[in-house]
Amino acid sequence: MVFHITPYSHNSDVPAQHLWLNRAGRPPKYRCVNSTGRALRPKFIGSTPSPEPDGAYSMDAISTDRTTLRALNEPGDKKNIRPSRKEAESAVRTLLAWAGDNPDREGLKDTPKRVVKAFDEWFSGYDADPEAALARTFEEVSGYDDIVMLRDIDVESHCEHHMAPFLGRAHIAYLPSDRVVGISKIARVVEIYAKRLQTQETMTAQIAEAIDKALNARGVAVMIDAVHQCMTTRGVHHPNVGTITTRFTGAFKDSDELRTRFLRLAERA
Ligand SMILES: [Zn+2]
Repeated sequence: MVFHITPYSHNSDVPAQHLWLNRAGRPPKYRCVNSTGRALRPKFIGSTPSPEPDGAYSMDAISTDRTTLRALNEPGDKKNIRPSRKEAESAVRTLLAWAGDNPDREGLKDTPKRVVKAFDEWFSGYDADPEAALARTFEEVSGYDDIVMLRDIDVESHCEHHMAPFLGRAHIAYLPSDRVVGISKIARVVEIYAKRLQTQETMTAQIAEAIDKALNARGVAVMIDAVHQCMTTRGVHHPNVGTITTRFTGAFKDSDELRTRFLRLAERA
């Protein structure tokens, strides 16, 4: 597993080593990239490290000073760097005080616990594997080769820039080649990606790619239509703006007619 690390772009008081707690035993391999994706030469601590062929370095060789992890969308990665529940609760306490309130007053006393518990649910997608959700496919399709479409899948996610909710609907279609998947699994894949910190664009692409790969589909179409609370309740305050993102692969990418059919079916939602 390769981790991507970037330097902090904001000042942070979180001790960097908290990001590197490894409960799994062996430290994972990773390499450093900056925000433009270019490889950085990491600062070394301790003895001279032995670089891996592709520029990956073993974890204990790299200074964790002012570095943080990126690419946390990989299932399971979070375990390696997850702080304790107590630490998470104490961070919420800090935010309560930062907001201007007294974290010790009656009404807020248990809020850190509740917030951290809510996080368990809102960000449960880090512990789930979309590939596993799509692993069971069926080849008995009696020659069915037309669009399979799920409309109006609820999307409840959080933007990675503000951790604000964005809520909406996903419409997903694929053209089976030789196998199909239980339709609830498609909705499950949406849920897994949504229960992570996301951008709508990334999530749209991830869903399309996961389905494409698992089903060897002739084409996949994904459309997400969502309202971002970071836009409605803060910043520009545009409460009625919906964001629509689409991703088409294979036949959907190549054929205007198929895309039009998909968009028509989605519109009827
Ligand atoms: Zn945002």
